[in-house]
Amino acid sequence: MFEKILIANRGEIALRIQRACRTMGIKTVAVHSTADAEAKYVKLADESVCIGPAPAAQSYLNIPAIISAAEVTDAQAIHPGYGFLSENADFAERVEKSGFVFIGPRPETIRLMGDKVSAKNAMKKAGVPCVPGSDGALPEDLDEIKKIVKQIGYPVIIKASGGGGGRGMRVVHTEAALSNAVVMTRNEAQAAFGNPVVYAEKFLENPRHIEFQLLIDEHGNAVHLGERDCSLQRRHQKILEEAPAPGITEKMRNKIGERCADACRRIKYRGVGTFEFLFENDEFYFIEMNTRLQVEHPVTEWITGIDLVQAQIRVAAHEVLTIHQKDINIKGHAIECRINAEDPYKLTPSAGRITQYHIPGGAGVRVDSHVYHNYLVPPHYDSMIGKIITYGDTREQAIARMRIALTETVIEGIKTNIPLHLDLLADSSFLHGGLAIHYLEQKLALHNKKD
Ligand code: ADP
Repeated sequence: MFEKILIANRGEIALRIQRACRTMGIKTVAVHSTADAEAKYVKLADESVCIGPAPAAQSYLNIPAIISAAEVTDAQAIHPGYGFLSENADFAERVEKSGFVFIGPRPETIRLMGDKVSAKNAMKKAGVPCVPGSDGALPEDLDEIKKIVKQIGYPVIIKASGGGGGRGMRVVHTEAALSNAVVMTRNEAQAAFGNPVVYAEKFLENPRHIEFQLLIDEHGNAVHLGERDCSLQRRHQKILEEAPAPGITEKMRNKIGERCADACRRIKYRGVGTFEFLFENDEFYFIEMNTRLQVEHPVTEWITGIDLVQAQIRVAAHEVLTIHQKDINIKGHAIECRINAEDPYKLTPSAGRITQYHIPGGAGVRVDSHVYHNYLVPPHYDSMIGKIITYGDTREQAIARMRIALTETVIEGIKTNIPLHLDLLADSSFLHGGLAIHYLEQKLALHNKKD
């Protein structure tokens, strides 16, 4: 096992990884920007290294500074967390070439899955159901494109192969709008991702977002840990997640989960990974794979009893998975509310000092957050300041506990999205379960119209 791990991230996930390391008796190195110098988790780390000024491009995305920090502290492995450099194949390669272990998949795998056309092809070959669409990249010739899209059937979505973060996509309803959409998406893709390749997919009008968690070692052992429902999103960003997904039967779970596990064995995946699907009319359609730990991993941890970060570290240290598919039991229900420093309905960020702070507790409540009384939320990064996760024997109990946890929470001095969460937890459609991905945007639009 490693003796020392460098955590190349910040905020709640840096603390989450640090806690896993400390539990395992592994020393930690925190790297931080000047804006995070005073953070408690930085002080709690065995060592800390300032890697640059507040803007992420000069600190958390600064590859040479992070590698040097690992060198001067004698760390053996680097955990990238999520976001920042976690899905950057060049970073993973530099880490390994510099003699450290990258806690994540091999650079080739990150590259393969980071390109959506090659990812989809690999998944199709492995028997994972995909959204119907063009057979790979769209050609140059407009008449050819028209033929292909006609076969798929309107509406379609034109997507950039190198896209990410909800960018580089355009929905097309008619043939008249097609050529313009293809040209614009190509240009945008070239400018934003340096890759002009685009492809077409059937646009699903009202799907849910359901994703599967996978865990794989280097020795060909792969298990799936069931699914999460992450349909409640605003601006393509998830805010409330739950596991298991309402209405998904064990048979469906096992069928899709097994396919994903098989695909991982085929591409010699290692570590944790998530297969994202759109789900409509009882069918799953693969859209992309995330080759890293997800924000919402705690809901899966709670219903399976598996610590995903510890498992991730163990497989990175070449250990053999000791858990088999038959040992994995999905028990109870877990919900996560992401707490964002922002206006709950207008979604404008709200950085600043936290003047009052009280976190909830009690049975079935977990809080993952790096903030505290008097903490200054810096304006430079993502607005998420923590996550509240609740567990219950049933979905109803998890929801009831979440409602209580959120009403116990006090965060003053900045705005948070807690009122929006409470609103959702009282929404009869949410209580029924199985909402589609557009529901929250529609709800927000309705609320803002009334204002
Ligand atoms: P990114 O990598 O940018 O997150 P994804 O491929 O994961 O891109 O898609 C992001 C979101 O776009 C999905 O969660 C969904 O809301 C929407 N989307 C993507 N593909 C489709 C599709 N074929 N039909 C309907 N919506 C889609």
